[in-house]
Amino acid sequence: MKTCCAALALALAAFPAFGQTVKITPVGSHPGELCANDRAIIFEDPTGVRLLYDPAHNVTGGDDPRLGTIHAVLLSHVHGDHIGNLKLKAPGAGTCANSGREPAPNSTTAEVAAAKNAALVMTRAIGRFVGTKVQAIRGGKPIGFCPQKESVTTVPVETVCTSQTDLGGVFIAKTPEAARGVEITIVYASHVNDAPPALLSQAQRELLQADGAILEFGPATGFVVKFTNGLTAYLSGDTGIHTEMKTVVNEYHKANLAVLNLGVNAGAYFSGAHAMNELVRPASVIITHANEPVTEGGKLRPLSRTAKVIDQLKATPHLAISGRTMEFDGKGKCVAGC
Ligand SMILES: [Zn+2]
Ligand SMILES: [Zn+2]
Repeated sequence: MKTCCAALALALAAFPAFGQTVKITPVGSHPGELCANDRAIIFEDPTGVRLLYDPAHNVTGGDDPRLGTIHAVLLSHVHGDHIGNLKLKAPGAGTCANSGREPAPNSTTAEVAAAKNAALVMTRAIGRFVGTKVQAIRGGKPIGFCPQKESVTTVPVETVCTSQTDLGGVFIAKTPEAARGVEITIVYASHVNDAPPALLSQAQRELLQADGAILEFGPATGFVVKFTNGLTAYLSGDTGIHTEMKTVVNEYHKANLAVLNLGVNAGAYFSGAHAMNELVRPASVIITHANEPVTEGGKLRPLSRTAKVIDQLKATPHLAISGRTMEFDGKGKCVAGC
C-alpha cells in the first residue's frame, strides 16, 4: 500500500497536469438551482488562474462574496443580460423564473473588474465600452491595455486593464510560478451586439431614438479557453448554429467541453443538439442561459424545454447549478461535483 502511494506521489510530481482538475462554479440567482436569468460562471485552473465569464444579472456587485479572487473577466457581448445592466438584490431574491434585481448603472462587468483589479478579456470595442464604465467607477482614471511579455500576461495584474485582443485574438493569463498559462481565444458567435439603452449617455440615447437605431459594439463573440490540464472549453456565448463550430472549435481547437447558452432568440433550443452532436462534439456539455427555471429542488424539471434538448445530446450533460463546483479533467470529463 505504502509503495503504491509513494509511486503515485512521484508520478504526480513528475507530471503536474496529471490528476489535476479545472473547477467550474456557476454563480446564479438561486443557490442549488439553474434559474432563468443564470449566466455567470467561475473557472479555476489548477495553476490558480481564476476567470469570471459574463457577470450578467447574477452578482450583487463587485463585492459579491461568492466571487473570491478574479484575475480576468470575460464578456461575450454587451447585451444587458450579459454585461449586467441589472444586479442581483441578494442570492435567492425573487423567483427562479424572475430573480429580484435592481439597476447597475455602470454594469456588473465593470463593477467586478474595478473591485477585483481584473483583466478585461473581450474584443477591443467591447473593452472600450466597459472601460468607460470602469473609469466612471474609479473617478475618471483611465484604464490601459494589460501588460504583456512575450504574449503572456502575468496575473494578478497590478490594476484593472483591457486585453488588446479582437475576434480570433488570444490572451494568455499565467500565474508567476506556473510553467504555462491559460489560453483564451475569442471566437465567432452568430448573434448581434447592441448596447442596452440604460447604459448609454442620455445624448446618445436621444440620437439613436430619433432614427430608430441601435448601437453595436462590433461582433458578438464566444471563447475557447485552453486550461493547463488539457481541458479545452468552448464558451458558446449567445449564438445560433454556425460552421465555425466544426471548422474552428472542433477541428482546430479540439474543444472537449462546451458551455452552451440555450435560448430562443439565438436559436440554440432548436439547433443546439445538432451543433453539439455533429459540429463541436465535446465529451461534456454544461447547460446555461436557459431563460426558464430549469430545476426545482435542484432537480431537472422533466417538462422544461431544456430537458428536451438534453434528451437529444450525445455528450454527457451537466446543468450549471448555482454554487455547485464541478471538477473537469483534461479530457472534458466531470470527475467530481456533478
Ligand atoms: Zn445576446
Ligand atoms: Zn443572452
